Parts: sequence; C-alpha cells; structure tokens
Amino acid sequence: MTPADLAFDQRHIWHPYTSMSQPLPVYPVVAATGCELQLDDGRLLVDGMSSWWAAIHGYNHPRLNQAMKAQIDSMSHVMFGGITHPPAVELCRKLVAMTPAPLECVFLADSGSVAVEVAMKMALQYWHAKGQPRQRFLTFRNGYHGDTFGAMSVCDPDNSMHSLWQGYLPEHLFAPAPQCRFGDEWNEMDMVPFARLMAAHREEIAAIILEPVVQGAGGMRFYHPEWLRRIRRMCDREGILLIADEIATGFGRTGKLFACDHAGISPDIMCLGKALTGGTMTLSATLATRHVAETISDGEAGCFMHGPTFMGNPLACAVAGESLALLAEGDWQQQVPAIEHQLREGLLPLAASEHVADVRVLGAIGVVETHRPVDMAALQRFFVEQGVWIRPFGRLIYLMPPYVISPAQLDKLISAVATAVEDPAFFS
Ligand code: PMP
Repeated sequence: MTPADLAFDQRHIWHPYTSMSQPLPVYPVVAATGCELQLDDGRLLVDGMSSWWAAIHGYNHPRLNQAMKAQIDSMSHVMFGGITHPPAVELCRKLVAMTPAPLECVFLADSGSVAVEVAMKMALQYWHAKGQPRQRFLTFRNGYHGDTFGAMSVCDPDNSMHSLWQGYLPEHLFAPAPQCRFGDEWNEMDMVPFARLMAAHREEIAAIILEPVVQGAGGMRFYHPEWLRRIRRMCDREGILLIADEIATGFGRTGKLFACDHAGISPDIMCLGKALTGGTMTLSATLATRHVAETISDGEAGCFMHGPTFMGNPLACAVAGESLALLAEGDWQQQVPAIEHQLREGLLPLAASEHVADVRVLGAIGVVETHRPVDMAALQRFFVEQGVWIRPFGRLIYLMPPYVISPAQLDKLISAVATAVEDPAFFS
C-alpha cells in the first residue's frame, strides 16, 4: 500500500472505536496464513488475537478456503424466505447436535450484535405471547454484548458510555460483576446483591443475559461457574429466561466447547458468532429451546419478527459447517490445554512486575492487567517491531491466539508481553 493509501485511510475510513480527528496508526496487512499476518513490507507478525476470538483454526486454512470455493461455484447467496439450502441445513444440524440438549431451534443472522438483538427480541416476544408483557433484562456490570442499541443497553453502563444515550436506551438492571473468580473457592455472599435485585424485580424481568464464565470486552474477567448453576436454578424457579452470550467463549476457547459446560447448565437461548465460521466470514446463530420457539410462534404475531436480507448466507454457512467439522475432529481438546499451560508458565510470573495488577489465564486466553492504562499507539508499535500482533486496550494486555499456534510462536508472544510490562514508557 502506498503512503497515499494510508493517508486516504486516515482521512476517510472509520476504524473500530477510533477517532477520525486524531486517528491511531493502522498497519497494512496484505495476507494472513496459519498464525501469521503479513505486512505489506513483507514482515510477518505472530497473531495473538485470532482477529478478536474468531480465527481459531488460523488463517488461510485450506479446508475452510475449499469449502468457500466450492460453495461459490454453486451459489454465494440466495434469500432465506421460503427457500432453504444444504449449507444451512448441514450447519444447523451440527449446531443443534453440539449445543446443550434443549437448544434446538436455530436463527441465523449476520453478526454477534444482531444475534444478541435476536435473543432479546425472542425474550420480549416470549413474554408478550404469554400475555404477560415484560421488558426488563437483568445482567452484570462489566458485561459486553455488542454495539447495536439493544445489545448496548445490556453492556456495562460506564464502559459503553450509557450517558451518551440517556433517554434513548432502555434502562435495564445491573448487578455487580461477579467477584468470586474462576478457580477460587465458591463464596455464597457473592450472589447476595444479584439475588436481591432479582427478587425485587422478579415480575418485570423477561430474561437474564450474561456472558458465561468469561466477561470479555468489558474487562476480561473470569468468574466462578457456580454462578451459572445458581442463576439457572433461580431462573427455573421464577420462570425467567436465561440468555447465554457465548459469542466470544463458544467453540472451545475456555477449554470447554461452550463456557456453559463448565457449570453443566443449558440456557433457554444461546448466542453464537465470531469463531462460528473459523474467522472467515460474518455469521451468527441464536439458538432457542422448542418451548421458547413455540411460545413465540403461538403468540399474536404468529412468528418471530425478524428476517435479515442475508439470513442463512450459503457461503458463510458452508464455511461454518467446515469449521465445525474441524472442531469435531477434536484437536482443540489437546491444543487449548497446551496453550493454557504455556500461558500459565509464561504469564503468571509477570504478576511480580511493578506495573502489573493481575495476571489470569483460562483456556486459550491469557490476560495481564496493568495498574495504569497502556499507551496503545506506543505499545502497538513496539509489538509490531517485536514481530507480534497484540492489541491491548485500557489496562489490559491479552493473548487469545489461534488454537493451531506453535509453542515457539506462543513463546514469541509471551516474551513480547513480558518485555513490555517492564517498560514504564508504555504506561500513561
Ligand atoms: N457478545 C460478545 C460476548 C462479544 O464479545 C461480542 C464482540 N466482541 C459481541 C457480542 C458482538 O459481536 P459482533 O462484534 O460480531 O457484533
């Protein structure tokens, strides 16, 4: 890419959560293979991000590429209203088989945020159909569920700046984030504020929505799975629906196929996205129980009120089917624990550094939380100079590499983080 291309980018193209008046630098990537991104000057960067949880099998995977090429030659897209096609049926058959048993009705949509919108609309329509309209959601602080308005309304109110949308966003119920950490002894007291909030609003709450076990973009926090068992029981008792947003955690990232599996629970509605297509195309799925699906369908509207243009996109479904076939072969069950082991060995000692507040590792996720916010531009530049792609934010430097990363590549990522946390220049 020429300097003019980069100047055009800076002047005219929004990047995620980036200023248009003072844009941060962007790095031109021209190819990606395995666990490496190739910059346009030929440099290779070891990828520590899996393109935000998505590229679990690595980039340019021959089987994923082949699935897309084969599908393009028959059809890239066809509308889903009144039509079905083999890639959608094959994908949904796999999703129903691999998710916890009562989930069996699949809604395909375009992105994670839309999957969350769909889940929330399902909950609202469910209660409407029962003749007892309910409109409130209960969730945790430090949550993240996406950037569309419904999803945003259940994101952490401070992190996602609810103050900007005051009067426009619906006001939902926020319990304190779980304090009892994954691996700690269970502390009964942790649940008290949540249980009180739920009891006080039990007749208004349509659903509880949460990220099971791992709170991702809202703080990269790992909490005790007992939370999920307790909440499942409370929901059953009150008839309140439970929505599990597994968009980040799904497909093996935490060491289990789904984070709900750490607690052995099943939600009433589950959202999937990100790694669903192995990071190749945008696609999401919202799965519901038959009870939820039939209650909605027997209500006033007679159907679920949603139907995006690119619903069930055959190309995305075909590659998702192949990504799930790769997962079903089971290599991730050795790869993720091996990554976890190496992350523990390499990152946990960094807790002794004066700039580090906390280090935590779960599955193929390693998080170093610093005392002070990182200077993102300077740290990103340093990482690129070290030959790694790591994108820190706030006080979080984290690694979540593709499952196929080699020990040597993972070492390179860990070493870069270890060097960075010792340098005060990277902390503002
Ligand atoms: N839920 C969770 C838990 C997520 O991590 C994300 C994305 N970071 C989303 C929802 C939204 O997904 P998308 O960015 O594909 O809209």
